[in-house]
Amino acid sequence: MAKIVYLPAKDCIFFRLGFCLYEEILNPGYFTKFRCKVLQKWEKDYDNLLDRAEIFGLDLKMVEKIWSKGNLQRYKEMKTCSGFQEGGDSLCRYLYGDICLLNLPKCKGRCDYFQLVGDKK
Ligand code: SF4
Ligand code: SF4
Repeated sequence: MAKIVYLPAKDCIFFRLGFCLYEEILNPGYFTKFRCKVLQKWEKDYDNLLDRAEIFGLDLKMVEKIWSKGNLQRYKEMKTCSGFQEGGDSLCRYLYGDICLLNLPKCKGRCDYFQLVGDKK
């Protein structure tokens, strides 16, 4: 049987660093497995901080102040992630919103969902 060869798809609107955003864009936030595990941990940390702040009667402004003091430490923590690579605008190269591109399916080439950048369907 002949092997199917897909055409390159770098110009597809769903293409990011070799991964496919199609499922995420179709159902934003639905697949928790796509999310960055470091951000998920920070969310828990923040919730814990809110709980403690409530006990001590701290307001949100104070909570934000305490939280921002840990920014550098959190960045160092993110760098310990095995997939981490220095990003441009983003903290990590693979961070896209709150998802990790490494957790997405790989683009196998032009598929049925291929949509050219700038092409309004
Ligand atoms: S590689 Fe980057 S985006 Fe992916 S989980 Fe690690 S820190 Fe998050
Ligand atoms: S061509 Fe298909 S698999 Fe590749 S990024 Fe586009 S939609 Fe995803």
